[in-house]
Formats: sequence, C-alpha cells, structure tokens
Amino acid sequence: MAVLKVQTERKYRPITLANVEELPEWKALDPEVQEAVRVVSQVLPFRTNEYVVRELIDWSKVPEDPIFILTFPQKGMLAPEDFNRIRDLMRKGAPKEEVRRAAHEIRLKMNPHPAGQLTHNVPVLDGRRLEGLQHKYPETVLIFPGPGQVCHAFCTYCFRWAQFVGEPDLRMATNESKDLQDYLRVHKEVTDLLFTGGDPMVMKTPVFERFIRPLLTEEFAHVQNIRIGTKALAYWPFRFFDDDLLRLFEEIVKAGRHLAIMAHFTHPNELETDAVREAIKVLRSVGAEIRTQSPVVAHINDDPDAWARKWKEEVRLGMVPYYMFIERDTGPKQYFEVPLVKAWEIFRNAYKQVSGLGRTVRGPSMSAFPGKVRVSGVAEINGEKVFVLEFLQGRNPDWVGRPFFAKYDEKATWLDQLKPAFGDKFFYEDELAEMVKRGLSG
Ligand SMILES: *Cc1c(COP(=O)(O)O)cnc(C)c1O
Ligand code: SF4
Repeated sequence: MAVLKVQTERKYRPITLANVEELPEWKALDPEVQEAVRVVSQVLPFRTNEYVVRELIDWSKVPEDPIFILTFPQKGMLAPEDFNRIRDLMRKGAPKEEVRRAAHEIRLKMNPHPAGQLTHNVPVLDGRRLEGLQHKYPETVLIFPGPGQVCHAFCTYCFRWAQFVGEPDLRMATNESKDLQDYLRVHKEVTDLLFTGGDPMVMKTPVFERFIRPLLTEEFAHVQNIRIGTKALAYWPFRFFDDDLLRLFEEIVKAGRHLAIMAHFTHPNELETDAVREAIKVLRSVGAEIRTQSPVVAHINDDPDAWARKWKEEVRLGMVPYYMFIERDTGPKQYFEVPLVKAWEIFRNAYKQVSGLGRTVRGPSMSAFPGKVRVSGVAEINGEKVFVLEFLQGRNPDWVGRPFFAKYDEKATWLDQLKPAFGDKFFYEDELAEMVKRGLSG
C-alpha cells in the first residue's frame, strides 16, 4: 500500500453529554446554546467525536457552522412546548425518571418509524419473520446487522434516530448472518445486498467478515453487488486504514463482485481533511467504487452552491454522486424540512453548475411508502401548474420512469400531502392498495 500522508492510527473517542464539558470549544459557547444541546439531547440522540469536533467544525462560525448543526442538537428540533417542558424539568432539578418519562412521551409523537419500515418490508421465510432484513424492491435486500446499529457520530436529522435512544421496542436489527444466507439462497432475484444501519462500518472487521465471506461462494453468485451504506468516510475515515478490512474488500472484488460504498456526505466541508482524502484513495485502490448520497436539509445544506461544491469535489476525488434525498417524515422534521419546490430548485441550481460527470446524481427523491419518488420539476400544463413526478424505485418495478402529475403546492414537503392533478388518483394507487391487502410480504 502507498505511504499514507496521515496518521492512520487514531483512537476513536466519542463526545456525548457525559464528556462534552471537557472541550475548550464547548466552554466558549453561549450558555443558551449549551442549554439547548442539553435539553434536546434528553429526547433525541447526541453523539459526536473528536475528529468531527477538531477537524470538521469551524468553531469561529458556530452556532451557524453546518457541521455543528449536523451533530449538536438544536433548540428548534423540538416543538416550543416540548422544549420548554424538558427545560423546566431540568432547571428545577426534577428526578431523572421524570425527565425520561417526559422525553419518551415526546418521542412517541415524532413518528419513529416512517414509511411502514417495520410493518411492511420484513421478509418471511418458512413462516418466520426475519427481523433485521428488509426487502422492498425485488433486486435489493437490506440488512441491518445487529452490531452496526450505531454511528461514529449522530446526524441531528437522522431518520433512524429511534433506534439510538434505547427504546428496545423501536429497534430493528439482526445478529444472524445465517438468516441472511437462508433468505438469499431461495431468492435468486436478489442481485444487490445493502448493509445499512446505523453504520455497518462501526462493526469490527471479524464480525463483518462473518456476514460477507459465506456470500463470496458460487452458491451466492447471484449477489453481484455488495453495497455498504456508511457515513464513516465523513465521521471517522480512520476506519478505512484497517488492513484486515481492506483485505476483505479486496477479496470481495477478486470474487468478481462489485463493492459499492454508498457514502453519506452531507456537506462539502466533510471532504476537506487529509484523512478523508486518503481514505477515499485507499478504498479506490482496493477496487471499491464510492457513490455519494445525502438528504437536503434546512440549516445545513439547503443551498445550491454547497451542493455544487460537494458534487464537484466528489467527482474530483473519484466518487460518483448518486442521490439527493428529501428528508423523511419523522423525528425533528419541522426543523429540517425543505418544501418540495425548494428542494427541486436547489437540485436544479446545483445540477446546472456541474459537468456531466457530476450529473449522475438523481433527485430530489422521497423514499416514500410506494417507492422512491423524484420531484422532476414544476411545469404548466393546460394552464395548470403541476409537479412532475417519477418513480426512481417502485414496489412494482413497472411504475419506474413514468411521469405523473400532482397539483402544485408551494408548502408541500412530502408525497402524502400532494393531490393528483388531472384526475382523482395517482396511477399506482389501486395497485398499491391491492398489494397492501395481500400483505406486502417480501
Ligand atoms: C434506495 C433503496 C434501495 C436501493 O435503491 P437503488 O435505487 O437501487 O439504489 C433498496 N431498498 C430500499 C428500501 C431503498 O430505500
Ligand atoms: S449516519 Fe445515517 S444512520 Fe447514522 S446518524 Fe447519520 S443519518 Fe443516522
């Protein structure tokens, strides 16, 4: 391996409420900002780490710095009455149990599992539900490995937030690499396996190997593409300087499979350190292909120039821009949400600034119950202003790529707020209802 420019051995040190006060940067913060972090993190998860704090956040720009807002909970993430309720309990020194109960009640109001994730996509094998797997689109199976259900830092806008706050009934994860093999053995239509989380890259390499190695045999040759959804390149690039992990990656490639790192980069500031650039190089040198994706979120990256800078830099570093998502209908959505029309404008104004190499990106896209729906644009048809929509992924693959129309709505932020234009139903609705009635099993 090439000589590395960066110090590759670094001890991972999380920063949470328990030790944040040791940071000199924290001590210099406005007390009101400090209190907001303490209050909101009773309800929503808070974890960052030393790399993020020292190398990604520009403290001269805090509290507006995008990476600060990305990992430190913000006051506006709770409704004012909820914020005040927790703040008042803390100010008067209420017992921990009372604060915990209040926090739990607030969480339950926040749609912890959007888009029918838990109820509708869990595959069944011989009558047994395989928790921790998801099979929504025929060619792709998702696995949430048990030991990967955490992240090197938590994004404040995370749609998987429910699994980080220690409410056991809200967790979904599997420890069973055997379930996965049993399922894939009888589902030869599956070409893509996507490891997701949390962040599967928090798993120790030997644990990850237990999931991967058996799949590299002839029996599983139909699993052509192994994808790893991760934010470790942004939050902890040092994870990729692990020789055993790189050897495993090489083995995947030598077994004739495509190794796709689906890297979550929210903001171009995450691409500027020596560590991330070196990690990208190392990954490419073992034959991995890196594709990038992120939601568009208010306060952090709702700016076309930030996206254009991000996509250009990604391309220059040898990565492939893949998806821009619209923030899901869960958690602190009211703080981060961007109206569909604005998301489309941000997309378009960024897309037009990059060369064709960056126009591999698709979006803005909603991962909604019927599928991934792209807001292709706003048009006027027969004098009526409409959204032009299109499935990028559908529960029925035949829905993909057909333009359809919704009444223009300046405020709408999600598919379920849209009304069909030129008719009383979207073209897929009857068929979807049929599918739901049949049980939507994988
Ligand atoms: C996005 C997604 C996939 C993968 O879709 P691609 O368009 O192939 O990247 C698979 N399963 C689920 C549930 C998804 O949301
Ligand atoms: S990396 Fe992904 S799963 Fe982890 S906190 Fe961020 S959005 Fe959530």
